[in-house]
Amino acid sequence: MLTNEEAKRRAITAIDQHKAEIIYLAQDILKHPETGWNEIRTSKVTRTWFDKLSIPYRHGIGLTGVKGSIRGGGAGPGPSVGLLAELDSLRVPEHPFSDPLTGAAHACGHHAQMGSMLGALIGLVDSSVLESLSGTIVPFAVPAEEFIEVENRLKLKSAGKIEFLGGKQELIKLGEFDDMDMAIRMHTGDLPRPMKMSVGGTCNGP
Ligand SMILES: [Zn+2]
Repeated sequence: MLTNEEAKRRAITAIDQHKAEIIYLAQDILKHPETGWNEIRTSKVTRTWFDKLSIPYRHGIGLTGVKGSIRGGGAGPGPSVGLLAELDSLRVPEHPFSDPLTGAAHACGHHAQMGSMLGALIGLVDSSVLESLSGTIVPFAVPAEEFIEVENRLKLKSAGKIEFLGGKQELIKLGEFDDMDMAIRMHTGDLPRPMKMSVGGTCNGP
């Protein structure tokens, strides 16, 4: 059984070793933005990475969500911790990485969330720390955080494909958070320099 410090050191080493792939994933998603409920490619890219890491998952949850499950090893029972990342972009045609056809752009930084989730998963799966952990980790790429394109969403609702227009609301209705004791995610923000991150900042969108 590893000490907490040794487990952290191993996870960080694994993340550092895969730095180029993690950045590639985030940049790939940045260059292929898709708005809420349309995250077909982003969902597929997520599944590719879950496959590479041998993480079992279900997909098509709330149309495009991908939900995995990783069990800790021999440390006994423990909580179920959701690890969330948003699939969707905004629509900002003037953004330097906007899609010229749709105007979609990751102006809210969800590509960075996806890269962070992948980094955390690599740190857990690829570092042999899992056998020293208890409980379950639930990586969950979720659709439609941004509340935009309401007319299109009303059409999806009329067609019976969704009931709620936002992703989390729909997932709550579907019971997809019922198996989690807590959930963690990060979001880009505008912090005063030289701060690089903060814990527990406000985030009203989700
Ligand atoms: Zn956001």
